[in-house]
Amino acid sequence: MTSRDHAPHVVVIGAGLGGLAAACTLAARGNNVTVCEANEWLGGKAAEWRKDGFRFDMGPTILTVPRVLERVFSEAGVRMSDRLDLRRLDPQWRCFFEDGTQIDLCENVDIMAQRLDSLSGGDGAGYRELIAASEHLHQISERFFFWKSVGGIGDTLDLGSSFNPSTLRDVLALRMDSTLAREIRRRVKDERSAQMLDHFTQYVGSNPQQAPAVLTGIAHMQVNDGVWYPMGGTRAVPEALAKLAEELGVKFRPSTRIRHILKRNGRAAGVETVTGETIAADAVISNMDSVRTMRELVKGVDTKKFERKWGRRRPACSGVVLYLGLDRRYEHLAHHDFVFSRDPHEEFDSIYRRGVPAEDPTCYLAAPAGTDPAVAPSGGEALYVLTHVPYIRRGQNWTELFPRYRQIILDKLKNCAGMTDIESRIRVEHHLTPQDIHDRYSPLRGAIYGLASHGRLNGAFKPANRVKELDGLYLAGGASHPGAGMPMALMSGWIAADCADRDLSEAQTPQALSI
Ligand SMILES: Cc1cc2nc3c(=O)[nH]c(=O)nc-3n(C[C@H](O)[C@H](O)[C@H](O)COP(=O)(O)OP(=O)(O)OC[C@H]3O[C@@H](n4cnc5c(N)ncnc54)[C@H](O)[C@@H]3O)c2cc1C
Repeated sequence: MTSRDHAPHVVVIGAGLGGLAAACTLAARGNNVTVCEANEWLGGKAAEWRKDGFRFDMGPTILTVPRVLERVFSEAGVRMSDRLDLRRLDPQWRCFFEDGTQIDLCENVDIMAQRLDSLSGGDGAGYRELIAASEHLHQISERFFFWKSVGGIGDTLDLGSSFNPSTLRDVLALRMDSTLAREIRRRVKDERSAQMLDHFTQYVGSNPQQAPAVLTGIAHMQVNDGVWYPMGGTRAVPEALAKLAEELGVKFRPSTRIRHILKRNGRAAGVETVTGETIAADAVISNMDSVRTMRELVKGVDTKKFERKWGRRRPACSGVVLYLGLDRRYEHLAHHDFVFSRDPHEEFDSIYRRGVPAEDPTCYLAAPAGTDPAVAPSGGEALYVLTHVPYIRRGQNWTELFPRYRQIILDKLKNCAGMTDIESRIRVEHHLTPQDIHDRYSPLRGAIYGLASHGRLNGAFKPANRVKELDGLYLAGGASHPGAGMPMALMSGWIAADCADRDLSEAQTPQALSI
């Protein structure tokens, strides 16, 4: 008999970054953990594709705020630096504009301010002010928003009892009457610089013109905590977490799709797989999309309130990704690059309001061979090109839409980023459409980043990690609090695990109920 024989058993549905972070945290605290993952691989969207000596990260490529990942490793007393070789990248992004302008977004605020001043006098001071406001918003988020289960302002601010002048100052700083785009343009006048700064919201797949001002806090996180590349690719992150989980005794069940969350005595008590197998548990953490979890996996529970609050929220955007194995490198590219649309208003209007792919899209590029030559045969490049497109709308058939859109993307790179010979340089090629994303990762309508962060008052909020409708059920991943992107998905896993672990310790229900 081991010390874990009487420890609670938790089932995690899904092995995305949130599911893996939850599994490691729970197991490090002495719980028994089983992870059921529908796919053959672990890591969810952080997957990879290899062919003929080329290696591509298929999903996330930009790692920010690595201290979140560090906290997950530290739960097990392991140093992240012993498991991952992270390289800090500066410039963080290189930006290409239609008029031929090129701007490097770098970490140093003074250098950046000078650069923006040279494009439009006064923007340097505006940039400093933006970063200072962003730092303040980030500090407020650390106090009220991060590292705990929050599903709305009432969960974090007790407006009745603990309201005092300093809380009032914090609430006013949130500028609930404003949007991210407006906060940027209040301070930075040059439209190119503003377009570059708008793209801090790329991690949440939302329209900066609809995203709440509080998301300005992302700028500080990126500028202060840096942009990182794990050697071996971002894929190295789920691999390191899966290895840690195995060392901690977590049982992985790949190729195991869950169709129901079982209930007993009014609480989550296990799961049922699509083959009809049941697995008993003291608690369940779902890393599946939060809205789909409540709609499809939970039965016999009143979810009307959840549906009213979250079911009406629009999904975040989806994406088209090209993976191009090239027989040359483009020396003028940085590791991360943006090739911007001519007109961001028209672009965002297409993606977020009209629900059609933009005719002139912004393309994000990852060209990792300079940092990590192992991604391609000598002299080559494993070029990753992502354009944001709408979540899947009724009648959209991406098998039909893709060939034309591929050409629009390649033409954009030829015309605006000096990659005139790109088509003749392709040696291997693969792609991902919104339909592929939907089929591979089971999100809501192909959305990459969960629910859109739209709405000045509530846009920053996502479904809380502790599910009020069913005791013993917790949500983790980009479609639950605190939201999408690698650090936030990892944090959501940690929060879900922390809530489950505390609740199980308090309830002292050591053994899984037999079902
Ligand atoms: C193309 C692309 C580019 C991106 N770029 C970046 C970037 O540069 N930087 C960044 O920070 N973020 C980026 N993101 C976002 C980031 O990848 C996600 O926010 C994060 O990986 C989501 O993690 P998650 O925990 O929500 O799990 P997911 O990756 O969504 O995984 C969920 C897992 O649950 C499994 N699952 C679902 N339902 C079931 C079920 N019923 N039974 C069993 N298993 C189930 C799925 O198979 C999947 O493996 C990008 C995403 C994509 C797709």
